[in-house]
Amino acid sequence: MQKLIITVALTGNVPTKEMNPNVPVTPSEIAEDVNRCAAAGASVFHVHARDKDQKPTLDTSIFKEIAKNIKAKNPDVIIQLSTGARAGKDENDRIKPIDLLPEMGSFTTGSNNLPGIVYENSPYFIKKLGETFGKTGVKPEIEIFELGMINNAQFLVNKGILKEPLHFSFVLGATGSMPGTVQNLSFLTQSIPNGSTWSVAGIGKSEIPLATAAIAMGGHVRVGVEDNLFMPDGSQASNLTLVEKIVRIAKEVGRDIATPDEAREILSLKRENKDRILDLI
Ligand code: ZN
Repeated sequence: MQKLIITVALTGNVPTKEMNPNVPVTPSEIAEDVNRCAAAGASVFHVHARDKDQKPTLDTSIFKEIAKNIKAKNPDVIIQLSTGARAGKDENDRIKPIDLLPEMGSFTTGSNNLPGIVYENSPYFIKKLGETFGKTGVKPEIEIFELGMINNAQFLVNKGILKEPLHFSFVLGATGSMPGTVQNLSFLTQSIPNGSTWSVAGIGKSEIPLATAAIAMGGHVRVGVEDNLFMPDGSQASNLTLVEKIVRIAKEVGRDIATPDEAREILSLKRENKDRILDLI
């Protein structure tokens, strides 16, 4: 089996410090959490930006600030910026984080319901964002909430917009989307193009069970307070305690943990793209 890539969804758009004081919100808090989680074994960091009132934002100056803070102490980690819709529905604004040239960016290739919103990704927007990934060489983490989103990703490959190998992240367990069961995870892993890599992001209570299944199946794992605020025993989670739990489980079943450079190899990331984000800061 490949070494295990641990991605941390550090902040997200929904959790606040009132819900869980461990949610990192400011650029320096986010960078400190990266520090702790990288030391524990995480290699990829999925980043959302918040404004001064903790509200989600697509303000690129805040993304830059976060990247600068992260790279100052952890130059080797892989930064993945979000293109999610809760921070603003303007399609051009949602593309801007990719123009900052992070090594990776999130890319949802379809629409679905999430708690309180329609997560809208129109065919037009998917093509435009896909072209931005293609043009910039930023590697998409293709977030899959439903099977049809895999078909859309394959469609972009067929059109020459995205290049294989693809990397998928199965987001399971959100209200209104596919339930977070091992059966669903197994079904999705069998539905992606040969040669793809995959990771699972279980939402809420499904986070640790699905991560455990992925470790056994040879996939990769995303954890973090964006996806789940509690440990399985009901205590408040932090990004660090979630990463530490995954590392313990992986060790128990004999799965080694990937360093950032090993993660780059597994994900076919180009080494020369490692620090492009710093050029724009
Ligand atoms: Zn996210």
